[in-house]
Amino acid sequence: HLGNETIKAELGRASWKLFHTILARYPEKPTAEEREALSSYIYLFSRVYPCGECASHFQKLLKKFPPQTSSRIAASQWGCHVHNQVNSRLGKAIFDCGTIAETYQCGCDNDVGATET
Ligand code: FAD
Repeated sequence: HLGNETIKAELGRASWKLFHTILARYPEKPTAEEREALSSYIYLFSRVYPCGECASHFQKLLKKFPPQTSSRIAASQWGCHVHNQVNSRLGKAIFDCGTIAETYQCGCDNDVGATET
C-alpha cells in the first residue's frame, strides 16, 4: 500500500534525523552514566520503534553491531554504519560517514560549529 509506505518512510527520515543528531552531539568524553544512558536509549528505541518489521530488523542489527558509546566519534560513526546497513538492505545508496559532524547540527546555544540563525 503506497500510503503506508509513504508514512513509514516519513517516520524513518524523522527518526534517523533525531538518531544521528543525538549521536553527533554526544559528549566527546562521556562519563560512565552518559555511556549507559546512550546505550539504554538505543536498545529501548529498538523496542518501541512503531514499525514492527523495522524494529525487529534493527534489534538483529544491534546484536551484530552493538552500540559504540566510548566517544562522540565512535558513537556517530557507529550510527552511520548501522544506518548504512539498513540502506543496503533496502537497496539505498551508501552514505559517506565522513560528513556526519557537519550534516547533523542541533542549533544548541553553546555548540561549536553551530550555524547562527
Ligand atoms: P533515510 O534512510 O530515511 O535517510 C534520511 C537522510 O539521512 C538521507 O536523505 C541522508 O541525507 C541521510 N543518511 C542516509 N544514510 C545515512 C547514514 N548512513 N548516516 C547518516 N545519515 C544518513 N524502512 C523499511 O521499509 N523497512 C525497514 O525494515 C526499515 N527499518 C528501519 C529501521 C530504523 C531503525 C529506522 C529509523 C528506519 C527504518 N526504515 C525501514 C525506514 C528507512 O530506513 C528510511 O528512513 C525510509 O525508507 C526513507 O528513506 P530515505 O531514502 O528518505 O532516507
